[in-house]
Amino acid sequence: MAKIIALANQKGGVGKTTTAINLSAALVDRGYKVLLVDTDPQGNATSGCGIEKGQIKLSLYDLLLREKNILEIIVATNGGIKVLPALIDLAGAEVEMVSMFSRETKLKKALDKIKNAYDYIIIDCPPSLGLLTINALTAADSVILPLQCEFYALEGMTQILNTIKLVHENLNEKLSLEGVLLTMYDARTNLSAQVAEEVKKHFPDKVYRTMIPRNVRLSEAPSYGCPINEYAADSKGAIAYKDLAEEVIKNG
Ligand code: ADP
Ligand code: MG
Repeated sequence: MAKIIALANQKGGVGKTTTAINLSAALVDRGYKVLLVDTDPQGNATSGCGIEKGQIKLSLYDLLLREKNILEIIVATNGGIKVLPALIDLAGAEVEMVSMFSRETKLKKALDKIKNAYDYIIIDCPPSLGLLTINALTAADSVILPLQCEFYALEGMTQILNTIKLVHENLNEKLSLEGVLLTMYDARTNLSAQVAEEVKKHFPDKVYRTMIPRNVRLSEAPSYGCPINEYAADSKGAIAYKDLAEEVIKNG
């Protein structure tokens, strides 16, 4: 039975998608079966895995709004990650879903049908706390919260933590915080070290030992449509995501 982990933070540019792709790839490397679910209308996780958006006929929109069978939507990638893709049509989904019955549990119900076939299901969330993120948190067992090592890292924490709490209380009692991941860490700056200290104080025992370094290879890989372990296997970024996968596996 798959463990379902959502990458969530309403801030954009903190490393949700980069982590979703490269954690998935590192888990596949370790022999696990992984489904990556893209819930961001931008579809960056979809294209970052090498899926040509023009080539796919069905996407998450069809699952949420048109009751399409999830098995018809999932796409296999060369690297071995299976992907439930998102396209820009998903941008209208939140508004269209407002009047739907049990709109918060659509994704959960679909994933329930297939989670036996995977070891991990990794969900990449959009940079907002709307209905798409709520669907992700309702379907998930736990959340990884990526925080960029910058001065405002902890700003906006209240909103995401409160959303996790609300979903836990009202929609998904198993939801927990899997871990806090420091991203774009720059070992040369005091600021990164200071932010890391502050975040560790704020979340004792929850911060991953692995910090994802700022690494240009990580930002280049998506344009080649492959995860870092295929694009630059020896890079610092690839090693960090491998280490993160080990921590995630160890946490059970
Ligand atoms: P989010 O999904 O939270 O919006 P992304 O994962 O898309 O964030 O990252 C935002 C931008 O930063 C992207 O251009 C990505 O390639 C780049 N990026 C992410 N993580 C790193 C990193 N560790 N080092 C360098 N660039 C990164
Ligand atoms: Mg993203």
